[in-house]
Amino acid sequence: MLVFEHIKNLQNHLSSLALQQTIGFVPTMGALHKGHLSLIERAKNEADIVVVSIFVNPTQFNRKEDLEKYPRTLSKDLELLESIACDVVFCPEPQEVYNGVVKSQNFNFGSIASEMEGKHRAGHFDGVATIVKRLFEIVKPHKAFFGEKDFQQVQIVKKMVENFNLPVEIVGCEILRESDGLAMSSRNTLLNEDQRKSSPLIFNTLTQVKQQIKNNSIENITMFVEEQFESNPDLELEYFQIAEEESLEEIKTIDPTKNLRAFIAVFAGNVRLIDNIKL
Ligand code: AMP
Repeated sequence: MLVFEHIKNLQNHLSSLALQQTIGFVPTMGALHKGHLSLIERAKNEADIVVVSIFVNPTQFNRKEDLEKYPRTLSKDLELLESIACDVVFCPEPQEVYNGVVKSQNFNFGSIASEMEGKHRAGHFDGVATIVKRLFEIVKPHKAFFGEKDFQQVQIVKKMVENFNLPVEIVGCEILRESDGLAMSSRNTLLNEDQRKSSPLIFNTLTQVKQQIKNNSIENITMFVEEQFESNPDLELEYFQIAEEESLEEIKTIDPTKNLRAFIAVFAGNVRLIDNIKL
């Protein structure tokens, strides 16, 4: 496994590969877990060379405290990547990736960026699109792999690729969960014991929403979700939304001809957790 901190060295290596070799790219912010590893396994199956980036992107954090507290476990991450025979790791410094100016570009993604995460985390998707676009320019992957845990992010990246006509295929990958249903996340390590014990309620609630959607109104389902979290002292609901998968626009009445997904964001103290389920 080769580890690069500098763009030039990474690009020198990638340009020395045989022309017909395909590059699969998995961008991460590190503190790696099995969810990340599942993306890398998928990339290994679908590309000749797998590049993983580890970069905690400052411009996608709207809360300073969240950025400062974000777990950083680089040496453990590198051991893990070595153990699954990852080919190339790119772990740059912000100044170099951002060419000296650590700032987001402004994008216009329409409604998909203004719903849910876009509404509650100002500037988040501009930060995400800026770094993903920049990393694509550097790595020049044929395919890039993103987890559906961040479903809205997958849609944003697809839109960005379409808008800029980038030569990369975006592959959405299924959510990996702990045995009690909690979606794996780097942030789970920040939960205290009580919060961790309460956290399966998120997926549990989403699963019940999926059951209720067949014979209940969105109004009643929303009330049910709110009650679930009101009665739990460790988790505070930030939003619950049922949306159409492509547009991510909120659905007010159930239309069985549409592809729908339910989304939840909660705070466990200062730790923000998100999850979603296909309905
Ligand atoms: P992050 O390091 O949190 O930015 O995540 C890097 C990539 O891993 C993103 O595409 C995430 O959607 C994906 N990812 C994170 N958690 C999971 C999970 N539990 N299952 C599948 N993919 C995940």
